[in-house]
Amino acid sequence: MNDAVNPLEQVNLLGLDLEGLAAYCEQLGEKRFRATQLFRWIHQKGASGFDQMTDLAKSLRTKLEGKALIAALPVISEHVSADGTIKWLFDVGNGDAVEAVYIPESDRATLCISSQAGCAVGCRFCSTGHQGFSRNLATWEIIAQLWYAEHSLRQRQGTTDRIISNIVMMGMGEPLQNYTALVPALKMMLDDHGYGLSRRRVTVSTSGVVPMIDRLREDCPVALAVSLHAPNDPLRDQLVPLNKKYPIAELLESCDRYLEKAPRDFITFEYCMLQEVNDTPELAHELVKLLKNRINCKLNLIPFNPFPASGLKRSTNERVKAFAQILVDAGIVTTVRKTRGDDIDAACGQLAGEVQDRTRAHIRMVRAPVVVKGASPQRT
Ligand code: SAH
Ligand code: SF4
Repeated sequence: MNDAVNPLEQVNLLGLDLEGLAAYCEQLGEKRFRATQLFRWIHQKGASGFDQMTDLAKSLRTKLEGKALIAALPVISEHVSADGTIKWLFDVGNGDAVEAVYIPESDRATLCISSQAGCAVGCRFCSTGHQGFSRNLATWEIIAQLWYAEHSLRQRQGTTDRIISNIVMMGMGEPLQNYTALVPALKMMLDDHGYGLSRRRVTVSTSGVVPMIDRLREDCPVALAVSLHAPNDPLRDQLVPLNKKYPIAELLESCDRYLEKAPRDFITFEYCMLQEVNDTPELAHELVKLLKNRINCKLNLIPFNPFPASGLKRSTNERVKAFAQILVDAGIVTTVRKTRGDDIDAACGQLAGEVQDRTRAHIRMVRAPVVVKGASPQRT
């Protein structure tokens, strides 16, 4: 069911979805409805101690003390951008760190969450991919990013109203290669007693793990974004090595199947714009041929976030515009992602990539939160 219950250790309740918490309460000889109360205290009110749960029977609170806990991830740093974007770096132990990014907009507030420390897929243009794979996050470590962001934001904004309206699994890692931890975390995001988000507002982004797309469709269909990045197999093989295992035709077939149960009637395809690699007009036409009249989709063109080891460059604005125009002219809904939090490197594995190297040596010295408002990340 999940990874939070280990009889030899205290149970971290952040890792239990409502079903899991109900089973845990039963183990303690408590009625299942107590689980709902507990769950609401933890996720809706942000309680981190049982003494705060005033309407819970004293006997249950006493039972929980010592056996269970609500343990957040230590925050290594917080960077606030001039545009309101906030990036947190969390310590997940053994020198590993993961990030979450909060992106406020006029009509929504999105949190981008990590699913793994590092990533095994190894995409050419991704700094997380260049770091290699360290380990899967546990359910509680995925949810702890949301729990901390939501409740610390409420505190600083002096409100009890919900703040985060959308979640995208677009931080570090390939969520569909950490499936068993991911699904309970998604369920907690959707649960009316938890974060109460609609399926349309929770997006899983994947590089194309075909069998897991099929499983997600059955177990927990939420909005799906697929990182395409190329319109043909030879080019995609180079950019997204997983394509050799699950080539484009198979990927599109799994997208068709997904759409039968998806909460939205389209798939979002992400396409990272790399100068003179995948951004030519010929490739734009090839993309139109691949997708038009084939699948209901939207294209999201992402300006590449350069990092030295990649040897790649961000497409110029002119090239992005020309590429987008070809898609739009063919009737494909296309957006170019706004870059947010540029001043704090709030994109795709960047900060964690930098800090991780340092944390291997220094993490034990920087447990306390470091707040750097409106400044570039520290690079000491
Ligand atoms: N592993 C999943 C989700 C995490 S990556 C996936 O690949 O979909 C989230 C998105 O960021 C993906 O679309 C990915 O292609 C993109 N991305 C990764 N590195 C990037 C970079 N350096 N610049 C721009 N986008 C990047
Ligand atoms: Fe992994 Fe996604 Fe980065 Fe590819 S783009 S290496 S799948 S995190």
